[in-house]
Amino acid sequence: MKRFYIETFGCQMNVHDSEKVIGTLEQRGYVQVQSPEEADLILYNTCSIRDKAEQKVFQRLNENRRARGKIFGVLGCVAQQEGERIFEKAPHVNLVVGSASYPRLAELLVQIEQGGRRVTGLSLDTDSTFETPVTRRDNPYRAYITIIEGCDKDCAYCVVPFTRGRERSRRSESVLEEARTLAGMGYTEIQLLGQNVNSYRDPSDPARTFAPLLEAVAQVPGIRRVRFTTSHPRDFGRDIVEVIDRNETICNMVHLPVQSGSTRVLERMQRQYTRDQYMQRIEWLKNTRRKISLSTDIIVGFPGETEEDFEQTLRLLDEVEYDQVFSFKYSPRPNTPALLLDGQVPEEEKSRRLMILQEKQRSIQLRRNTAQIGSVQEVLVEGYNSSTGQWIGRTTENRVLNFVTRPRADGSQPSREEMFGRYLPVRVTRAGPNSLAGECAIAV
Ligand code: SF4
Repeated sequence: MKRFYIETFGCQMNVHDSEKVIGTLEQRGYVQVQSPEEADLILYNTCSIRDKAEQKVFQRLNENRRARGKIFGVLGCVAQQEGERIFEKAPHVNLVVGSASYPRLAELLVQIEQGGRRVTGLSLDTDSTFETPVTRRDNPYRAYITIIEGCDKDCAYCVVPFTRGRERSRRSESVLEEARTLAGMGYTEIQLLGQNVNSYRDPSDPARTFAPLLEAVAQVPGIRRVRFTTSHPRDFGRDIVEVIDRNETICNMVHLPVQSGSTRVLERMQRQYTRDQYMQRIEWLKNTRRKISLSTDIIVGFPGETEEDFEQTLRLLDEVEYDQVFSFKYSPRPNTPALLLDGQVPEEEKSRRLMILQEKQRSIQLRRNTAQIGSVQEVLVEGYNSSTGQWIGRTTENRVLNFVTRPRADGSQPSREEMFGRYLPVRVTRAGPNSLAGECAIAV
């Protein structure tokens, strides 16, 4: 029996890619184990968005370099970025596969099983997307569906075009078929994934762009919630806002990465929109019938960012009032144009700006979450925290809402089986910067 262990780093795309890699392995008779010690095949699905993420995989490989009789494989973005250099850096590695080569994974595994020792899948020259008959999904309630892979943008700091290749959209019929199958399996929440979902275009019907696809998924019977990530402001059209506004199953949230509040820095980042154009999208979203929760990504300390540019980013936080901000220090990445830019910001200055920004956003989130106290929110129950005795729910705005239930007449409480995957109304009683707390508004 062939046993495999897989560890995944990075974004939701990587998490979902691993779900499909696991499906491919199980189809070949492999069995997943929970530790590298027990495994014959050890795989790392890697991320290279920042240097720290990249170093993690080499640290893991180094920790296991003396393990005997095992096959090591590096998958994902570091695999594509470093390619055959990985065999030099870690000679005990046998398999190096970039995500654009996943459709060939079964064939590459055959080479390994037949004794191949330096097997690679590194071509970016492909039109195909990674679709598998079997996907081993982690979460029993929320399912990921990749609709587009790769990216045609060239943001100056980003490795994705070099590690995942050019954009390739899936046929909409294949996406809808998957959504219907998931609904049949009892999934009620779907998250559509892509580096840039807004530039989706059905290869079999170019008229079917992102907005009509989103609406079609939202209307699949049995699906109660639809989310999508990641959007790009340049391609975020008004048609998307209109589809969100008229389809209640599309969640009340939009993640729209801005990266900087300064048009001067956005130009240096090659983001292809200005601060004003970005704010126009925000205005569309704020003028909808529904209250849409907003989140974003921000990079501080991009080469050439002045104190005034940074102040513009801070002012943007006040203007937009995001419910969540994923903020990072600029991290120089291989092959990216930003490496050659002048005005590199010192590390301690990046840290100072990140701290100021996160502190400011924390107070905005606390104020916005506090305003939720007294309201009743519908949550999808996803877990239970035995140390606090609270159920873990998630609102349509993607807020975490931890809550308690009232004891039944006989003093008992509902079981996990009874609660997990249910949609329940919860009254918000307390608020923190990153989560809410409450009590179930009905007896369960
Ligand atoms: S849109 Fe820009 S930041 Fe996003 S994946 Fe593409 S190149 Fe990278």
